[in-house]
Amino acid sequence: MKKTRLAQRVEMARAAMEFALVMGRNKLGQPTHIQVPGHAGKRYEQFIRRNDNRQSGLTVECQLNTGCGPIPCPGNNGHICYHSLSAVELAVKESGKKASWCQTREIADLRARMGGQVIPVQSWKGTGILYAVVEEA
Ligand SMILES: [Zn+2]
Repeated sequence: MKKTRLAQRVEMARAAMEFALVMGRNKLGQPTHIQVPGHAGKRYEQFIRRNDNRQSGLTVECQLNTGCGPIPCPGNNGHICYHSLSAVELAVKESGKKASWCQTREIADLRARMGGQVIPVQSWKGTGILYAVVEEA
């Protein structure tokens, strides 16, 4: 699968977020399971896992709902797919905040000097990682 530019993926994620549905929440009311629409009527299930240590951030698992069982999203291996970005964007928006996305910790730390908290976002069992700088909207 072609790796799309981060800015492009964020744009696609924000468009998909408008049609995303929260399917499950944790005890704090934070979304843990979000369904995100993809191309050609496809549906992707997102499972957000928050680490107890906030510094280590969260992981997002993306599964394509095929109708005969889920298959891991190929876009979420090696980098973070826009479906997962969409789910995190929705969770951030619900908390009254907004996220800026950075490819590296260094850029995220620089960005956070202007305000915000750096949250690493990893793909589940994959090697993809991005850094969200989350601040008040
Ligand atoms: Zn995906």
